[in-house]
Amino acid sequence: MNYEKKNIFEKIIKKEIKSEIVYQDKKITAFKDINPKAPIHIIIVPNKFIKNMNEITIKHSKIIFHMFYTAVKIAKMKNIDFSGYKLIINCNKDGGQIIPYLHMHLIGGIKLSNFIV
Ligand code: AMP
Repeated sequence: MNYEKKNIFEKIIKKEIKSEIVYQDKKITAFKDINPKAPIHIIIVPNKFIKNMNEITIKHSKIIFHMFYTAVKIAKMKNIDFSGYKLIINCNKDGGQIIPYLHMHLIGGIKLSNFIV
């Protein structure tokens, strides 16, 4: 299996390497970022591999909705739904995507005014 098909996030999903999973179901896994940029920094990934946003088609509509729905669920769980948070998805080199596996960053727990947008 090549790197793109079996990268670090796939290993986290399958619990082949250690991570702090905060939520998991049949379709999605959410875990703490190993290098958090804020007090709350969670990575949300579909269990089934998608490389990045460019690969999304209509057949992914349910899982994309589920990623957003799960992000809000975790924001509520972490009690930052009213204080606020950011959801960030990086795509490819200029977008700052390092891990070639579609993922959403849920960031909060601090005022995020120093971010680009
Ligand atoms: P990106 O730059 O959008 O590809 O983000 C990748 C994120 O994955 C970074 O914020 C990393 O800190 C995080 N990361 C990399 N390896 C791990 C890991 N083993 N466990 C948790 N987070 C990780």
